This record gives sequence, structure tokens and C-alpha cells, in this order.
Amino acid sequence: MKNLKEEDIYEAEDSFRDKLATVDKEGKRKWVYASKPKGRFYNARTYVSWLFFAILVALPFIMINGRPLFMFNIIKARFILFGQIFWPQDFFIFGITMITFVVFIVLFTAAFGRVFCGWVCPQTIFMEMFFRKIEYWIEGDANKQRMLNNSAWTSEKIAKKSLKYGIFYLSAFFISNLFLTYIIGYQELYEIITGPVSEHIAGLSGILLFSLIFFFVYIYFREQVCTVICPYGRLQSVLLDSNSMVVAYDYKRGEPRGKLKKGEPVNDRGDCVDCGLCVRVCPTGIDIRNGTQMECTACTACIDACDEIMVKVDKPKGLVRYASENGILNNEKLRYTGRMKFYSIVLILLAGILTFLILSRKDISGTIMRAEGMLFQERGLDSTSNLYTVKLSNKTSADLSLNFKLENIENGRIQIIGGSTIKIKAESQGAGSFFVILPNEVIKKRSTILKIGIYHDNIQVNKKSTKFLGPIN
Ligand code: SF4
Ligand code: SF4
Repeated sequence: MKNLKEEDIYEAEDSFRDKLATVDKEGKRKWVYASKPKGRFYNARTYVSWLFFAILVALPFIMINGRPLFMFNIIKARFILFGQIFWPQDFFIFGITMITFVVFIVLFTAAFGRVFCGWVCPQTIFMEMFFRKIEYWIEGDANKQRMLNNSAWTSEKIAKKSLKYGIFYLSAFFISNLFLTYIIGYQELYEIITGPVSEHIAGLSGILLFSLIFFFVYIYFREQVCTVICPYGRLQSVLLDSNSMVVAYDYKRGEPRGKLKKGEPVNDRGDCVDCGLCVRVCPTGIDIRNGTQMECTACTACIDACDEIMVKVDKPKGLVRYASENGILNNEKLRYTGRMKFYSIVLILLAGILTFLILSRKDISGTIMRAEGMLFQERGLDSTSNLYTVKLSNKTSADLSLNFKLENIENGRIQIIGGSTIKIKAESQGAGSFFVILPNEVIKKRSTILKIGIYHDNIQVNKKSTKFLGPIN
């Protein structure tokens, strides 16, 4: 037998990192026939998925003051969070929210690895807890699915495939509609579905397009979303460290692995009986015994599978379990590391800024600016005026009539052009113009700072500063 050098052995052991588990040598897709998991984690994830589905379906129908709880209307640049409307002008709040969310994800991942992927990621939940369960129900467990796919087109195969494809498409159609309720709201979706086709070509095309995308993802693309497309999955190598909690194989306990054979001594072996069940249940087709891998979605199926085997061979459970790399190497408990402390401080600061911005956010926002290209106008012998343009957003659900008051100069007055107020419809933007007229005796400088209060029903809803230009140098 050829003597292998140390680096050859290292290369051979690590060679799994050079290829994708779901792609063969010719570069073709290797279909993953994952065996149906069973065990305490799978049961717990099933209950969590029911809660997830209930929340996902209910959320678009929960209204606060006539507005949905959440809506992300990218088309109309109208975003609603917790019943509060956000306009493009509020995008810095969105920006801070996104940064806070990213820091939270980084902190959470540094501590708990990909727990999110396994338990609450919509892709994993829909794939593993909905579509794959339908597949098991129609086609049976992994071996039966493989046999069915390799068999000739009998009437039984046609019936099973038709049923599966039909249910998958109807489910994808439902998900597509649900997805749209988060974008355009359920009322608009209802109008699209019930209105004349000719008036809703774009909306109906959107529903059809999303249905086909979801159908393609769950019938064919599947785990590739997590292993090839998902950016979060690909960031794991920089987010995780040796103190992060991951689904891990206890190699100190498990190695050297070996199959159980009658009459052979087992004292010189580890606890892994090399049954391969942890690999057979894996929906991304990897072997967790090779260590933490980018493809692992922390779905816990291999924990359940291995626990089942450990019970059968009378060994303690947990050969595959939630643990950190240091936990396995040095029997350490999960630690709150310096890196996590730093992320926590950044997260607390960002959350504080975000809370301040949301609480200090006004229902009426916008600008008051001097009209372009105009200097000032003489009003009789003793007064001067400046013309201003007003652009305001009404973020409330009521129509408002707004008027304006000079807050820092007593003798001045405001004359709105075209009426006594500026009217802005609910959840809309509006514009108007007014003159500020000041007696010449209060104009001491060429440029005077004005503070203008914006009022609705005699209640100040915002205050803006602007400049008044006068004739004095
Ligand atoms: S290795 Fe285990 S936890 Fe990771 S994806 Fe495969 S079965 Fe799920
Ligand atoms: S299920 Fe457990 S015992 Fe079986 S191969 Fe995997 S790690 Fe080893």
C-alpha cells in the first residue's frame, strides 16, 4: 500500500471542501433524496412552523387605524411599519433600521450560528415543513422517491406526479398572493383578482410570475437557494468563530468511527457506528462529520437521526448536537466573547438612535423655502415681504388644513396664497405658497432667521426655520 504523507492525508480529509455535495464530477446536479427526519427537534420545529405559518398569513390582515401593520410597497415607495407610514423622506430611518438589523444578525450569528436558518427562515420552513412533507405523503420516503423517479411512466407514477405538481403549483400560487399582500395590501390584491382582467394586466402578470418562481424554487431549485444563492449562508465563514454555537459532530467522542460487527471488539472505537443516517437525512446532502460547512442550514435533522442511533446502540445522545468548536475541543460552555460584547454595544447604540428617530418623527414633515429667483418685495412704505414655497407630507390617515404662524417675530404676518390654509389629503404630499410680511422696523439685518410654526386645529404639528431677506445691508 502506498505510504501517504501528512499533507496528502490532510488534503484527502479536506477534499470535501473542494466540491459541492449536490454537484457531481461532470458538474451536473445531484438530486438530494433526504430521508424523513423524526425526533424531538423535528417535532419542535414542526410546532414552530405552524406558528410561523399562522403569523405569516395573519399579518397582512391586521390593521391599525385603517392601515396594515406592515406593508412594503416598493412600487409606490410607501412603507408601513407597525401601522406607521414612512415616505422616501424618512429613508434615513430605514437606513438606520437596516444597519441595526444587520448588526443584530451579525451578533446573533456570532453567538448562535445559523439557528435562524433552521428554525424561522421562510425558505427552510416552506421547503422542509410544507413542500417536503407533501412529497413524503404522496411519494413516500427517500428510497421510494428515488425508485419512483427512476421507474418508467406507469399510470401510478403519472397520478402521483400530477398530484404533487398540482398541489405544489396551487401552494406556490397561494404563497405568491400572500407575498403580494405584503407589497400592495390585501384590498388592492382583492381588486386585482376580482376586477376586469383588462384593467389589471400588470397585477395579474405579477401574481402569475411570482407563482411560477415559487413553483420552480420548491419543485426543482430547493436547497440550492441556501447553498448557492443566499448571501447570509455565504457570509458564515466570516460571521462564525470557534465560540459560535453550531450543529456539530463530537469527533472526540465519535472517532475513530466504525461499523458495529458481531464478535469484533468495540473498546478501541469511538461512538460513531458509521451508519450514515445523519447524511441520509441531510436536506443539503452534506456529512456533518466533516465539520462545520457553509451548506449546513442547522436544520437539526442529523441531531435527531444520530440520537435515534445512539439510543439503539445504548450510548448517550448528543454525538451530533448544538455546540461550539471550543465546546467540543475543550469541553467549554458557550462564552460571551469580547467580539460579542463589542457588537452588543454597537447594537444598543444603534437601537437607541433608532428609537429616538422614531419617537421624534413628526406626522407632518417637509420644507419651507424662499421662492427661487426672488429677492424681496416692498409693501407700501413701511413693510417688506418674501415669497415662500411649502412642500409637506401628511403621514396621518386624515385630511388636514394647515396654517402657519411666525414664532419669533411678533409684528410679522403670513399671507397664504389662494386661501386661508394649505390642504393636504391623508397619506399624501402637498404644496403651497405664502408671503411673510414684516414691518421694516424689525428688519435689522439683510438676512433674518424666521421660525415658522405649522398648525392644524391650533395645535403645532411641526416647526421650521428659514431666512427672510430685507433691504438693509
Ligand atoms: S448537516 Fe445536519 S443540521 Fe446541517 S443541514 Fe445537514 S442535517 Fe441539517
Ligand atoms: S448518525 Fe451518528 S452514528 Fe450514524 S454515522 Fe452519523 S454520527 Fe455516526
